Amino acid sequence: MKDRRFLFFCIQILHIFKHVNSYGESINIGLIVDSNSEILEKIFSKAIDDVNINLEIPLSPVVREIDYGNSLMAYNTMCETLNHGIATLFGPSHFYSSKHLLNLCDEKEIPFIEIYEHIKPTAFNLYPHSDSIAHALHDIIDAFEWTSFTLLYESGDYLDLVTKVIDLYADGGPVMNVRKYDLHINANYRSILRKIRKSDDNCILIIGSSESIYTVLKQAQEVGIITDTYKFIIGNLDFQSIDLESFRYSEANITGIRMFSPENPKVKELISLIYEEEDLVGNVSCPFTMEMALLYDGVLAFAETSKHVEFLPIQLDCSDSVWDKGSTYKNYLAMSTVSEAITGNIFFENGIRIDHQFEIFELISSGMNKVGTWSLDKGVRTHRYNPGVTIFGDEMSLVNKTFTVLLSRSDPFGMLKQSTTKLTGNNRYEGFAVELIQRLAERLGFNFTFVMHKDDVYGAYDTNTNQSNGMIREIMIGNADLGVTDLTITAEREAGVDFTIPFMNLGISILYKKAQKEAPKLFSFMDPFANDVWVLLGVSYLTVSASLFVLGRFSATEWDNPFPCVEEPTELQNQFTFGNALWFTIGALLQQGSEIAPKAASTRTVASLWWFFTMIIVASYTANLAAFLTVEQTFNVINNVEELAANKGGVQYGAKASGSTRNFFAKADYETYNQMNEYMTKHPDLLVPQNIDGVQKVLDENYAFLMESTSIEYQLARLCNLTQIGGLLDEKGYGIAMRKNWPYRSKFNEAIIDFQESGVLTRMKNKWWNEVGTSGCSSKSDDSGVAELGMDNLGGVYFVLLVGSIVATVYGVLEWFYHIFRRARRCRVTFMEKLKDEYKVITSFSTATRPTDDMVSMCSRNS
Ligand code: GLU
Repeated sequence: MKDRRFLFFCIQILHIFKHVNSYGESINIGLIVDSNSEILEKIFSKAIDDVNINLEIPLSPVVREIDYGNSLMAYNTMCETLNHGIATLFGPSHFYSSKHLLNLCDEKEIPFIEIYEHIKPTAFNLYPHSDSIAHALHDIIDAFEWTSFTLLYESGDYLDLVTKVIDLYADGGPVMNVRKYDLHINANYRSILRKIRKSDDNCILIIGSSESIYTVLKQAQEVGIITDTYKFIIGNLDFQSIDLESFRYSEANITGIRMFSPENPKVKELISLIYEEEDLVGNVSCPFTMEMALLYDGVLAFAETSKHVEFLPIQLDCSDSVWDKGSTYKNYLAMSTVSEAITGNIFFENGIRIDHQFEIFELISSGMNKVGTWSLDKGVRTHRYNPGVTIFGDEMSLVNKTFTVLLSRSDPFGMLKQSTTKLTGNNRYEGFAVELIQRLAERLGFNFTFVMHKDDVYGAYDTNTNQSNGMIREIMIGNADLGVTDLTITAEREAGVDFTIPFMNLGISILYKKAQKEAPKLFSFMDPFANDVWVLLGVSYLTVSASLFVLGRFSATEWDNPFPCVEEPTELQNQFTFGNALWFTIGALLQQGSEIAPKAASTRTVASLWWFFTMIIVASYTANLAAFLTVEQTFNVINNVEELAANKGGVQYGAKASGSTRNFFAKADYETYNQMNEYMTKHPDLLVPQNIDGVQKVLDENYAFLMESTSIEYQLARLCNLTQIGGLLDEKGYGIAMRKNWPYRSKFNEAIIDFQESGVLTRMKNKWWNEVGTSGCSSKSDDSGVAELGMDNLGGVYFVLLVGSIVATVYGVLEWFYHIFRRARRCRVTFMEKLKDEYKVITSFSTATRPTDDMVSMCSRNS
């Protein structure tokens, strides 16, 4: 225990050093709390840190703990605290301990700020007076038009409030049944609750502490009165901090009042400061209580006061000493006003808080839903139609209301209208989103003013840091009522604003250039057959030629008399030499024939089968060749997101820098998308500010743009050489954003559903996508017609012809040289002499004859 106290003391010393200004001055403010109130201490310290940013003389905390209800200890601790010289004190929760300290503060003229519900005449009471809580409960009961109800209250502390509620009905009103219960550990309220069930009352007002109310509701559920036929109003400002998880689906109408919303950014910030995530009780509860909110607000109120007072508190003790300047602080505090505290505006009148407001909320299956507000001067103002709620004035009608609509430039949602004349006001804008707002306005009767958002950031809200930006921020801080463009509904944004139901559905996909035409290959005439078919064709050709050669030699019929005039020849000749066999076969294959005609049955059989084979082969080749040469091959560099992630073909990619698409990859839990996220993080230059820049990049570079399918569709109708690669990577929708709990959301939703069902949205989409400003890009391929064949297609055939001719010529010349060489040897003349002779013979173009192959004459003439 001693160690703990010592540690606590050291922390205090550190705090004091942290909170002194450059002259070593600071104003001490005291907090005496019940032991184990670390959360309050954290909030106290945080509040002081926050206000010190704007204070010349900073505040500095003096925090002490006492045992709950130990008034003597409270007194001694206070005496020790006074030694530090404190300018104000926040007291403990126990009524009597705190009363003792208040008396001491009154003696010393030190202002005492009360944050608990025991209103004390000489203190500055931040907790609303029971008068106003009673009024609020009375007005809500009136608004709900209850004709009779049971008032169930916790005895003791709540009698004052109960009496005031009853007094408000002194002049008549609903029939009231008043029942009391006591707070005990293991308390059993079931018999009282059963009595209520047996009575005719199905409307119940419960007034009690947050500790008892949970047990009462739980036992009410067991007894069977938490059902859709029962209505409850809870008269406790901390009701929202109770864990209501088990009642959310009960369909019972449970209404509460509170001074702050869990959605308040400051509340969220403080919750994340004081709690670990797992500490939170459940989804349907706000783990931030009135004492926490009021302690923070109390520091704000005191900080405001300290700005006007120039002197520092003095050291006192518990004897006679008095702080003579303390009353000045009290006077300033009494007059101080704080307008943006967590619990709303702070004004004191005779130490009582006035002009505050309560939020009315009800428990529904999705959580706590704000349905209205209450203030002393305006009474109950509800935000929605509810059969049980009387509407004050024509609050839910949108007729003649004017909203500011934030628009962002993005084709075709929000665009600047092209015109030769100068346009003003809403007339300057056009597009799908603009028309949607116009139609909603016509339907619901409101007026609107478009404001073009200054940058391309649609924005988000970070619940951890409470930071928001872009359009979302503008709506959150109230600069606009509605936000519309291709604004995707995301969970992150939903935390800060509300959305209508989606008016358009979409998903992320890839925008890239259309399939590229493959350049024809030189040997594209080979394409009709696969390589193995060509190889087998060559093998068949050789095999068939060889078999004709062999069979020809086997068959007697193929052996002929070379000189038909000689009746009894001495030798026979076979037409199927190997060369002739090759010639015959190739002639057949190329459909040209040859003079060689097989005569034997065997050779004829082989020849016929070969002819049959070549007929089929040639027919197939011809058919396929036509298709291959006329239809140009196209190929996609990338075909899916995996290939894009692997940068196949050197394709780079990116997305809109600050959009939901980029966010999708940042948050995705899938390997390929993680890889893409890393790539985009490493290459910020590939991210673009607006969709249109991404489209331009696709056109100019080897770049693919990750874009939403609706925008891709819009671009494809205009830019014919672009295409969408693959399907959708996710599914989501666009919605109109509005402030959280905006009362007219359901009206907008109803109108949007109606537009969907009546086909209005479809017609609008068709208009903005396919009619306005399209270039008539059809989805059909623009090169489906027959193209003429060029050298690109047929070059290979010419090449074969050329190479074949050259080879034949070279072969012919070599053969000729060889022939001359042999003759020269036979005639015993030189090669050059014989070459000259032969040259003369073949260049005598005037005659088509030459001397016979009579070597003797040639040889004799030359010898
Ligand atoms: N619709 C997106 C958004 O709401 C912008 C475009 C994108 O990120 O692809 O942030």
